[in-house]
Amino acid sequence: MLHKIMAYKYEDDNIFAKILRGEIPNDTVLENEYALAFRDINPQRPHHVLIIPKGRYVSFDHFAKEAADDQIIGYIQAIGAVCDLLNVSIDNGDGFRMIANSGQHGVQEVPHLHVHILGGSSCGKMIQS
Ligand code: 5GP
Repeated sequence: MLHKIMAYKYEDDNIFAKILRGEIPNDTVLENEYALAFRDINPQRPHHVLIIPKGRYVSFDHFAKEAADDQIIGYIQAIGAVCDLLNVSIDNGDGFRMIANSGQHGVQEVPHLHVHILGGSSCGKMIQS
């Protein structure tokens, strides 16, 4: 049986790494020890925020498997806080869509883990057929 040798390769020259290093400006919504949230440069809904961990993770699966517990907690808490800040939480708002495009079939453009939070108007059906 062939074993696929998988290694997540993080490249430090990706655009979100540059944002984290302060080399490119961003419109910050929230920052904590573990995460940075900023508005997408090309918003697809009235609210379109990207939330990235501060660690060197390519994708959600990479993060889920290799991040430390405090990194995971801090990142997920940042997502909840952004939903509150944007008033899209379903306890006091109209909801949102969270997307984490991953790899080639997920059509991920920037190889640093990010979730998109989209809200402020309906996001329509989940996926095109
Ligand atoms: P992906 O397809 O990788 O899930 O999404 C990448 C997202 O990053 C896109 O929605 C794109 O508009 C956004 N983006 C790309 N470059 C920049 C940038 O320099 N600044 C910000 N704020 N967003 C960016």
